[in-house]
Amino acid sequence: MIFVDSHCHVDGAEFDADRDEVIARAENAGVKMMLTVGTGEPQSGNFERAVALAEKHANIFAAVGVHPHDAKTFDAEAENQLKNLVKSSKKVVAWGEIGLDFYYEHSPKNVQEDVFRKQIRIAKNLDLPIIIHSREADAETVGILTEECSEKDFRGGVMHCFGGTAEAAQTLMEIGFLISFAGNVTFKKAENLRDAARVVPLDKLLIETDCPYLAPVPFRGKRNEPIFVTETAKFLAEFYGVELGELANQTTRNFLTLFKIQMEH
Ligand SMILES: [Zn+2]
Ligand SMILES: [Zn+2]
Repeated sequence: MIFVDSHCHVDGAEFDADRDEVIARAENAGVKMMLTVGTGEPQSGNFERAVALAEKHANIFAAVGVHPHDAKTFDAEAENQLKNLVKSSKKVVAWGEIGLDFYYEHSPKNVQEDVFRKQIRIAKNLDLPIIIHSREADAETVGILTEECSEKDFRGGVMHCFGGTAEAAQTLMEIGFLISFAGNVTFKKAENLRDAARVVPLDKLLIETDCPYLAPVPFRGKRNEPIFVTETAKFLAEFYGVELGELANQTTRNFLTLFKIQMEH
């Protein structure tokens, strides 16, 4: 049984003290692949660190893109820097996380929208799938993606840490997106997330930790890490009424297909 943590931040400073142990723990539990998503300001060095980590581990892949929090720092220089990183390593398999976060609004809304559109176009030019972050901005996110991602040859993407409505999930799946659930789908009060999960068929589903944030039950409140994606998998297998192996294998297949990754035997 093979699990994939389709969205984590294991390159982040929270793992500096014990990163190798964290990665080994996950692998030993069957989490055979991870996608680590660089975030932060372009000059922070975080993106270079994420790609270096992916270069070091055969089973870690990386994504680069400017988070909506940092949209105000995105400029031509940042664009070139991230494009060069993509060209520097075959392990960079996606552009992201990009999108809109109107909950924190660390960057002005109009800047977030403008930078979101710009980065979608960059990803399309590089023929990369995109990883979308959306918080309290469902209508705007779906609107922009519908406008920007309707071409037949669009590589698709993933709506990560899904927090929207069933209706939004439907629309996104129709234009080529997978829906990824994080540990918060296991939270007692998250009925709204489970309402959305109900409309997502297994072949459109991904699972993730978004660690170090959002540890699933029964580890809620602790530092999250990739091994805990197995808890979200168990929860969702029960929720959908399928064997854990079926859910693990299907979400792994979905991951490999979207990011065009060949599994090593
Ligand atoms: Zn995010
Ligand atoms: Zn994230």
